[in-house]
Amino acid sequence: MTDEQRYDPHSIEARWQKVWEQEQTWEVSNDVDPASAAYVLEMLPYPSGEPHMGHLKNYALGDAVAHFMRRSGSTVLHPMGYDAFGLPAENHAIKTGVHPRESTAESVASFQRQFRRWGISIDWSREFGTHEPSYYRWTQWLFLKMLEHGLAYRQQAAVNWCPTDATVLANEQVTDGRCERCGTEVVVRQLEQWFLRITDYADRLLEDLNRVEWPENVKTMQRNWIGRSEGAEVIFHCEATGSDYPVFTTRPDTLYGATFFVMAPEHPDVLRLAAGSDHEDEVKAYVNRAIAESNDLRGGSDRPKTGVALGHTVTNPVNGEQIPIYVADYVLMEYGTGAIMAVPAHDERDFEFAKAHSLPVRQVIGGGEDLPWSGDGPLVNCTPELDGTNNREAFTAIVATLEAEGRGKLSVNYRLRDWLVSRQRYWGCPIPIIHCKDCGAVPVPEEQLPVVLPDVDDYKPKGHSPLAGAQDWVNTTCPSCGQEARRETDTMDTFVDSSWYFLRYCDPLNDSAPWSREAAELWMPVDQYIGGVEHAILHLLYARFCTKAFHDIGLIGFDEPFARLFTQGMITRDGAKMSKSKGNVISPTSYVDNYGADTARCYVLFIGPPDQDADWSDEGVEGVHRFLSRLWRLANDLDSADTELVAPEPADGGDVQLLRKAHWAIDKVSRDMAGRFAFNTAISAVMELVNDCYRLRDQCSDQAMRFAASTAGSLVFPFAPHLGSEVVERLTGKRVWELPWPEADPQMLESDSFELVCQVNGKIRERLMVPSSASEADLIEAARQAPNMLAHIEGRETVKEVVVPGRLVNIVVR
Ligand SMILES: [Zn+2]
Ligand SMILES: [Zn+2]
Repeated sequence: MTDEQRYDPHSIEARWQKVWEQEQTWEVSNDVDPASAAYVLEMLPYPSGEPHMGHLKNYALGDAVAHFMRRSGSTVLHPMGYDAFGLPAENHAIKTGVHPRESTAESVASFQRQFRRWGISIDWSREFGTHEPSYYRWTQWLFLKMLEHGLAYRQQAAVNWCPTDATVLANEQVTDGRCERCGTEVVVRQLEQWFLRITDYADRLLEDLNRVEWPENVKTMQRNWIGRSEGAEVIFHCEATGSDYPVFTTRPDTLYGATFFVMAPEHPDVLRLAAGSDHEDEVKAYVNRAIAESNDLRGGSDRPKTGVALGHTVTNPVNGEQIPIYVADYVLMEYGTGAIMAVPAHDERDFEFAKAHSLPVRQVIGGGEDLPWSGDGPLVNCTPELDGTNNREAFTAIVATLEAEGRGKLSVNYRLRDWLVSRQRYWGCPIPIIHCKDCGAVPVPEEQLPVVLPDVDDYKPKGHSPLAGAQDWVNTTCPSCGQEARRETDTMDTFVDSSWYFLRYCDPLNDSAPWSREAAELWMPVDQYIGGVEHAILHLLYARFCTKAFHDIGLIGFDEPFARLFTQGMITRDGAKMSKSKGNVISPTSYVDNYGADTARCYVLFIGPPDQDADWSDEGVEGVHRFLSRLWRLANDLDSADTELVAPEPADGGDVQLLRKAHWAIDKVSRDMAGRFAFNTAISAVMELVNDCYRLRDQCSDQAMRFAASTAGSLVFPFAPHLGSEVVERLTGKRVWELPWPEADPQMLESDSFELVCQVNGKIRERLMVPSSASEADLIEAARQAPNMLAHIEGRETVKEVVVPGRLVNIVVR
C-alpha cells in the first residue's frame, strides 16, 4: 500500500473541521419553525486544566445525539459554554500559582481547542463562560428577582464549613460528613448567610419527577434527598417550665412505647432546661462539643449513643406518663423540630441509647421476635381498646384522638433544607447587595449591574471572603439613603451560575434581559440532557428549582428544564476511577494525536453501554482504529464519486446478501440511537456491515458495494463525523450531514431467507444465505456442501451436528 492509500485521520479531520468552521455549519438562528426546534445539551464543563476522557465521552455522546436528530429532521440547538467560576477553577489557580482570571482563560482556550479537534458540532455563536460580566450580570439580576419574590433571604444559621476550602458548603456538597470537593471533614459554624428557598418547592420537585423522562436512579436520588415523610406532630408538655415541645414522628402508632424524650444539642431550650441542675456544666460541655461536629458524623449508625439527662420530664400526651428529657447528638436540629420522642422498642437508635443509659424499653407493637422491631403488627401494652388493633389503623386513631385534644395533628416533614448560596471565596459571582447600617441589606439597583468582581491580587481563601480586602470596591454608598455603606463580600455558589445557563444559550446576546421569553420557549425545555450521575442532587435539583422559581416569577412559561436525561458512566482504568493522585489518568490528547479524533470518539462510545462504567483498553482502541481504516480503504477503493446514494435493485447472490445486511444495519443503528442510546451495539452493527463488504466483495456488483460502503459511512457519521463525511463524499459526492438519516427498506428486512452461520468445531468457516423454510436436514446439507466447510470436514469423522434454527450449524469432527 502506498502512502496515499493509508487512512490518514489527521488530514481528513482537519479538512472537515475547516469546512464546518468556515461555513458555520452548526449554527442555528432563532428564526426557525418551532415544531422542528430541538435542544441537545451536555452539561457544561468546569474549565480547570485540560479536558479528560470523561469530557470526551460526554461530548461524543451528545454529539452523536445531535447529529442523529438533525438528520432525522430537527433543527438542533447544540451550544457550549464554561462553568468557569467556583472552586474547581479557583483551586486549580491556587495550585498552579496563576491568577484564576488567567488560568481560567487558559483552560477555556484549551477546551475550545479540544472541542474543535474532536469535531464536536457546536454552535459557537452562542458560546459563553459563566465568569464573563455579560453573563453574571444576569446571574445577579436573577438573584435579585428571587429576593424580590421572597425566594432569597439572609439568616444566621449553623452551617457546614470546610476548613480546607475555607468556605461554607450547601448540604448537597457534604457527603458522609466530608467536603464533596476536597474530602476534608466538615465542621459547623454559626454564620449569617444567604439562602434560596428551595424548600418551598419540595412537593413540586417531587411530583414533577413524574413528568420527566429521567433514569429511575436519578429520580430516586432526588426523592430521597428531598425526603418527604408523612407522620404526625405530637406535643409534649413540660410542667416544670410550662413549655410545649412539639416533635415530628412518622410512627405515632408507637407513642405508648415512648420512654424518654431527646433534644438536639442546638435546641434553643437545652441550656435553659439544664440551668441550675446538677448536670448544668456537663450539659454545656456536651452541647459545645456536639455542635462543632457535622450532622453526617453525628447521625452515623456505628457511633456510640452519648447524651446527658437535663433533669426534667415531659408528659406523654396519650398516657400522661412523665418521661425524662435528654440531650443527645444523634438528634439533629435540622430534622423535624429538633426534638424526638424516643421509642426504644421500635427504633434502632433509640434502642441503643436506652441500652447505653439503662432506660426502660416497652414493646407496643407485637409480631417482632427481637427488639427493636420496626415492622407492622397488632398493638400491645397500650390500652384495652387499642390492644390488638393493627398498628396502621392505630396510627389514624391515635392521631385523631390527639387532634381532638389539641395535642397533635397529621404532618409532613422533609429532609431538604434551603440552599445555602454564600461562599467566602474570591472566584465567584459577587452577591449584588449593599449593607447599610440603617437600611440593612439593600439590593444593588438593576442599572448598576453587573457588580463586577474586582481584580484582587490576594485571592487565596482566608476564612472570610478575600473581597473584603478590596477596600475601594467594598466601600460604597447606600442606594437607598446615600450614606456610607459596604458591599456584600461573599460570592455565590457556582451552582447558581449553572442553574440557568441552559436558558442563556437560547438568547446569549440579549443585553436587556437574561433571555427573551420567545427565545426560551422556542428551544426549552432541553429535549435531551446528558451528563454525569454525580450531579443528581446538586446541579439537577438546583436547576429544576430555579426553573420553577423563574416560572413563578413570570420569566418563562414552563417549569421543568430537562425533558429527557441521560447519565453516562465513567471510564475507568484497570477497574479504578481515573484520578491524578492514582496516576492512572489517560488524556484524550495522546489518543487523538496517535489515532485521530474519530477513533477516540468511536472508542469511548463502543467501549460498553454508555450509561455504564467501562474500563479503558488500548487493544480496544486499536480494534476501533482498524475498523475505521477498513472503512476508509473500502471507500478509497471504490472511489469514483459518480453514483447516487440509492439502493440498487436486488440482483442475486452476493448483492442480495449485502443489501440485506446494509438495511439490517440501518434498522439496527436507527433503533439503537432513537430508543436507548445503545451506541456500542450501533457501532458494532456498522462494523459487521464493513466486514460483510469485505467478505462479499468478490460476489457483489460495484453498485451494491457502493451502497453498502456509503451506508456504513452515513451510519458511522454521528460517532466518527470526519470519516463519515469523507466516505459519503467520496462515494456519492454528497455532504452526509445534509442527507436525511437513511431509512431501512422494510422489504429488505423481512426475510424469506437468513444468514446461516456455518461452523466446524465451533469456528465460523462460512456464512450462507438460506431459505427460511429450510428444514434442519436441509441446513446441515447446505452447510456441508459449502466450499470453506468442505475443506475442514473432508476426510474427518463427524461426531455431532448441532443446529440452532434460524442461526447456525456447527459440525463437530475429529
Ligand atoms: Zn473542601
Ligand atoms: Zn441606607
